[in-house]
Amino acid sequence: MKLSYNRTKIVATMGPASTNKDILLSMIKAGVNVCRLNFSHGRPEDHQKTIDTIREINEQYKVNVGILADLQGPKIRIGLVKDGGIHLVNGKHINMTTHECIGDDNQIYITYETFPQDVKANEIILLDDGKIQMRVIETNKKDTVVCEVVHGGILTSRKGVNLPNTKVSIPSLTEEDIVNLHFALKNDVEWIGLSFVRNAEDIVDLKRIIAHEKKAARVIAKIEKPEAIENIDAIIAATDGCMVARGDLGVEMPLEEVPLLQKMIVRKCRAESKPVIVATQMLESMITTPRPTRAEVNDVANSVLDGADAVMLSGETSVGEFPLIVIETMAKIVRNVEELGYPFHTTIDHVSTVPSNFLSDALCGSAVYLAEHTNASGIVSMTTSGYTAFEISSHRPKAGTFIFTSNKQLLNALSLVWGVRTFYYDKLESTDQSIADVNEILKAENLIEVGDVVINTASVPITKQGKTNMLKVSVVE
Ligand code: PEP
Repeated sequence: MKLSYNRTKIVATMGPASTNKDILLSMIKAGVNVCRLNFSHGRPEDHQKTIDTIREINEQYKVNVGILADLQGPKIRIGLVKDGGIHLVNGKHINMTTHECIGDDNQIYITYETFPQDVKANEIILLDDGKIQMRVIETNKKDTVVCEVVHGGILTSRKGVNLPNTKVSIPSLTEEDIVNLHFALKNDVEWIGLSFVRNAEDIVDLKRIIAHEKKAARVIAKIEKPEAIENIDAIIAATDGCMVARGDLGVEMPLEEVPLLQKMIVRKCRAESKPVIVATQMLESMITTPRPTRAEVNDVANSVLDGADAVMLSGETSVGEFPLIVIETMAKIVRNVEELGYPFHTTIDHVSTVPSNFLSDALCGSAVYLAEHTNASGIVSMTTSGYTAFEISSHRPKAGTFIFTSNKQLLNALSLVWGVRTFYYDKLESTDQSIADVNEILKAENLIEVGDVVINTASVPITKQGKTNMLKVSVVE
């Protein structure tokens, strides 16, 4: 059976290279499902313009592109340094100070006020994505930390700092994050990314604010700290989805551990029916060249095979020279794996952690089983909360997953979820009538044909809008 659309979704980070409406439209036509706004960069007015453009395209072209607002979190940086760059020499000592100054060979400003109190002797400090490494010699516990340069080099202004061994006391949501969060919520974005998550409480705190604002945004926990790996089960239980944020994860953890951590996080998220994004450097060389390296192609393909819901592009689409070619390339890699070698219907150690969902989980699993055994072309489900969509998707069916809902927010939110295509439907006449209607809609969209087997799921009685409790096998007439 030929697939009618890509199952693994594509998240594209927005930036000067991609926010022009015509370019973005061509990227969406080529396969972008979710646009990521990176709040580490850009002014609010730029983000507002991008949001407006995405919403306009959704309206005008009847597509359901979602928005992921990615909060910077407690990113630590150094301050400005003199002459545009200073040379750190191996073995030399240098002070890191919490007093703002222009950095030189003796001292560098660090934007982390309680650094001298939090850090201990012998802990490692990584600068500029780990390219420069220092070791703590001593701290005065007040405002200065003496460090030894272990691997030196040229250090330029405002570079990021990673502290893999230090218990960082900065809250996960900084003041700047709170401002950006309210901006994102005001714009009803579907997903909020939280950077440098350390424990489930970080997620709970964020969700409390979202609930207080009476918004439906769902949370993506970015996994990029060793503490997040230690607390991964509790974080996945608390969050709505995860991102394997390999950029920082590969600095905070030994590089060689990242491939297996990726597989572990993806497997655990799938088992809990939570979407998971694999991110960073997927087609990095395409920032400046129109063809990726063979290793990058393998990386995208292997992330698809690992079972990711979505693969993500960062600089490739935000500032790169070939944003459209990047999307076309990624979509081709995804499609080829899915057509020729995807492990559909794979059994996962799927346990329903919520007893009240036991019956609907069993029914969703059965729908996927039935689809496989009848070679069905679609699983067609009605849902109000979205639960059924997440659940069916987690079984990775080969049949198309067509979700009908009257919940408008869900239409774009599910754009991140593996295999799911969404449609608006708000009639509540009878189950038979609704099933006939939704099958007609799919026929009109050429997603199913006369003679195809489809599996319909719904909740009866339909007017109650309860949990999924029925399924039907039929042949399209
Ligand atoms: C990452 O570190 O991989 C990541 C996605 O985070 P950011 O791009 O926000 O630094």
